[in-house]
This record gives sequence, structure tokens and C-alpha cells, in this order.
Amino acid sequence: MPNKARILDGNLESEIDDCVNALRAGSVIGIPTETVYGLAAIASNSSAVRAIYAIKERPSSHPLILHIAETSMLDDWATNISSEARALCKQFWPGPLTLILHKSDKVLSEVTGGRDTVAIRCPNHSVTTKLLKKLNNAIVAPSANKFGKVSPTTAQHVVNDLGSEISIILDGGDCSIGLESTIIDCTTTPPQLLRTGAITSEEILRECNITVVAASGESRAPGMLEKHYAPMCRVVLVGSSQAGLVEAQRYVADGFKVRLLDLTEDLDKFARLLYSSLRTADKDEINVVIVVRAPMSGIGFAINERLEKAANSFL
Ligand code: AMP
Ligand code: MG
Repeated sequence: MPNKARILDGNLESEIDDCVNALRAGSVIGIPTETVYGLAAIASNSSAVRAIYAIKERPSSHPLILHIAETSMLDDWATNISSEARALCKQFWPGPLTLILHKSDKVLSEVTGGRDTVAIRCPNHSVTTKLLKKLNNAIVAPSANKFGKVSPTTAQHVVNDLGSEISIILDGGDCSIGLESTIIDCTTTPPQLLRTGAITSEEILRECNITVVAASGESRAPGMLEKHYAPMCRVVLVGSSQAGLVEAQRYVADGFKVRLLDLTEDLDKFARLLYSSLRTADKDEINVVIVVRAPMSGIGFAINERLEKAANSFL
């Protein structure tokens, strides 16, 4: 379907004003963040929030992350905030870290899927910060793609996926991190890691002396599915480039169009380019992308988590 979205780069004040007005009127727009592009609605309008679920075709049981301009706005949206949560905000915000906290009365039940907890993050992107400050409110924003598919890391990805369904896409350039935020549940003691991301448990221990444990108990992380981040092509994971070549020959012999992806030399680059590489493979009508797993250090955990889910999606 043809693109109907206006693509704005936010360099003009009037463009930010247009976004603010659209959000206040209940529209859903595409916005850049350092992790992935988001599909944003103003947090105080329940029908605007519901429109996100409809556009994404996302089940309402998958709650949304609330985005704020600065840490000082945190107490508007959360209560009983632990000292650990405060320390994490101080160290890592603005940045790719989402905290699960006890929600304040102000948070709509559409945002949390009826839970008494809320996910909050302060994104680190100058254009979106400018927008949030002018809006003088919070937004909720999941990734700007259809549910279960590969997240967008450029404005063009958002145009391709949702350009026929939203009115504005704010183009803030390519996402500098390229993977979704780390999620830490701070309503438990000790805090639990619900989703890996650029900020690791090791870094949290080093910088804040806080021990974060793996998620346990009943499903603390609604929406943490085994299958996700799925391109159309099949994703096959291997441990080395050599193993990748052997696999590639096997698939080629079976008549498949194959691509080998080895970005293990530079993990930040691997994270940044992972989703666009999968999207390019789909555009090039590749059948099988063979990806060399990241080493298990730093952002490598998050890269491999996304890759496992992408690989599972084809099974
Ligand atoms: P995303 O898919 O990037 O929009 O991230 C949303 C994810 O954050 C959800 O799928 C949940 O795993 C988590 N999340 C959001 N809100 C809550 C909440 N209130 N309680 C627990 N987890 C949440
Ligand atoms: Mg997503």
C-alpha cells in the first residue's frame, strides 16, 4: 500500500510542533530512539493507546513501555520506587534501560494490560527528547513494526511497514544501538532481568553494585515469546564462519538462495546492523540467512537472544 506518512526530520521547530499536535489529537506517529524506531501515542489518551495495538496487530496482553523526557518525570508515573531503581536511572538514563515499577494512578490500564506495574524508560535521542519536552507528557511506544516481525532501525523501515497506516514519521537517522532496551523488573528483590539489551547485568553490577538475577517465577515478562523478531527468510545459527560455509553449501545444493552473515568482529556493529541485514535479505528474496552467533559477552547476549527467537520462528 502507498506511503501516506509525512517524513519529517525534526530540524524545524514547526515540525516538532506538528508532531506534538498530532499526538495531542490522538494520532499515532513513528519516532526515532537509540534502540529501535517506536510507534508512539500520548500516554494519557486511551483510544490513542488502543490504536497502537490495532496498527501493530499486537495482543492487548503485551503491555507497552512508557517513555519520558527526563528522570524528574518518573514520580508522575511510578510509586514506591526502590533505591535500586533510583540508582539505575541515575546511572543509565537517558539510555537503553527499561524499568518495571509500581504504577501511579495516572497510568492508564491500556498501557499496562491491566497490571499494577508499568514499564518506563527515558530514551537517549535528541529529536525525541525535544518532542517529549514540548509535549510535556509521556508517550507509550512499542517498536514500529507489525507484531512478531523484525524491529525497524531506520525511518525507511517504518515507511515500508506502516507508512500506509500512520500520518507522520519522524526521521532521526539510523538507530545507534539497533536492539530493544534491556528490561529490569525493580518490583522484586533482587531485581530481575526480563530482557537482555545493550546494558548488561555485568555493567549494572560494576557501575551500581546491584545484583540482577535471571527472571523466575510466574511469567514476569508478558510478551517474552520464544518466537519473535522474525524475517520471512529462515535464520540458521552457526558457531563459526567455517561452520557457516559448510551449512551454506548444504542449502545451496538443495537449491536455496543463501546468505552468510558474520559480524562477530565488532559486536556494536553487529547489533546495529542485525535487523537491517535481515530486512535486506527478505528484500533480496534470500531463503536462508546463516548467521554466526555472537560471543557471549557484552551486547552479545542480546544479539544471540534475538537470533534464537528469529531462528525459532521458522520451526
Ligand atoms: P516492546 O515489545 O519493546 O514494546 O517491550 C514491551 C515489553 O516490556 C513487554 O512485552 C513486556 O515484556 C515488558 N513490559 C511492559 N510493560 C510491563 C509491565 N507492566 N509489567 C511487566 N513487563 C512489562
Ligand atoms: Mg517489538
